[in-house]
Amino acid sequence: MHKYSKTVAKKIKEYTKVTKQIFTLIEKHDKVAIFSHRSPDFDAFGSQFGLGEYLKAHYPTKDIKVLGDNHEIYSIDIYPLIDEVSDEWFDDPVLGIVVDTAVLDRVSDKRCKKVSTLIKIDHHPNVEPYGDICFVDVASVAVAEMIAVILLVDGRTVSKDVASYLFSGIVGDSGRFKYASTTALTFGIAEILINLGVDINYVYNQLYVQDIDDLRIIAYILNNHKITKNGFAYYIFDDETQKRMNVSAERAKENVNIFADIRGIKVWASITEQKNKNQWRVSLRSAEKPINEFALKWRGGGHVQASGATLLNREEIEIFVKELDEYIGS
Ligand code: AMP
Repeated sequence: MHKYSKTVAKKIKEYTKVTKQIFTLIEKHDKVAIFSHRSPDFDAFGSQFGLGEYLKAHYPTKDIKVLGDNHEIYSIDIYPLIDEVSDEWFDDPVLGIVVDTAVLDRVSDKRCKKVSTLIKIDHHPNVEPYGDICFVDVASVAVAEMIAVILLVDGRTVSKDVASYLFSGIVGDSGRFKYASTTALTFGIAEILINLGVDINYVYNQLYVQDIDDLRIIAYILNNHKITKNGFAYYIFDDETQKRMNVSAERAKENVNIFADIRGIKVWASITEQKNKNQWRVSLRSAEKPINEFALKWRGGGHVQASGATLLNREEIEIFVKELDEYIGS
């Protein structure tokens, strides 16, 4: 019998019933597909591959797939490539498990709608309950933290690889254990994962070491950002700039937290043009004031202090900036 801290033991108790329900469904299916959201981040990948590897290890005869989008920066270097399956694969009964995705429309692989049974495991506000099991814990810093607790309840061996994937998800969504959503449980779970063999330095290097090229992006941001009257800091990376600097929209967005911890900056964002989609992607962050409801009004959503939005043109960017500034000042 393991001896966990009071905080971890309490969470394990809270998750016991739903974990049993989840594993009952897993046992019943020969095929399991694990999905997540578009533009996957560390928590999406960490949760998908953490759960996926655990299930592959303990159910070697089942057909378990991790599906969705690869990432131009993180895939291969940090996480394996996503599995590939044909549409016919879904002709048999499939259990779909969607992690870290508040609304079904944001799932990257649309075939999640073809599965016979669906489970939602998420920590975003439950704006769209879906699935035969809808398990949402908004108190959790990361879905990877939820998965870690679920695996502890299940009680079988958690390999170093699984622990490392889950650790990367927790590190990602907690901003390296810094965001307000980080709790005693986060540290308790991190301790357990580290004791399972996670190489902290290796994971941190993989996730955060940047290239010299990134300094050019930082220089651009420092030279071109704007700060509104009420403390909204933002930078715009349009398609022309991306091409001129040879920087992808994905990479340009990565530096949004350059404005964190600056006194007087209350909300900050990167606004990157996605020419191929004819839209602008906003990565929005806030020191205190909730921004998810605001993001929801602009084709987005997310967490209270970390959300995303979608804008259609430069006129909308102007209105977005003006309304956000007014909102901060209200
Ligand atoms: P990002 O800025 O892309 O790192 O996303 C921050 C958070 O907002 C994540 O939890 C995303 O899942 C969520 N998010 C980003 N974009 C959208 C969107 N268009 N709709 C709903 N949620 C989003």
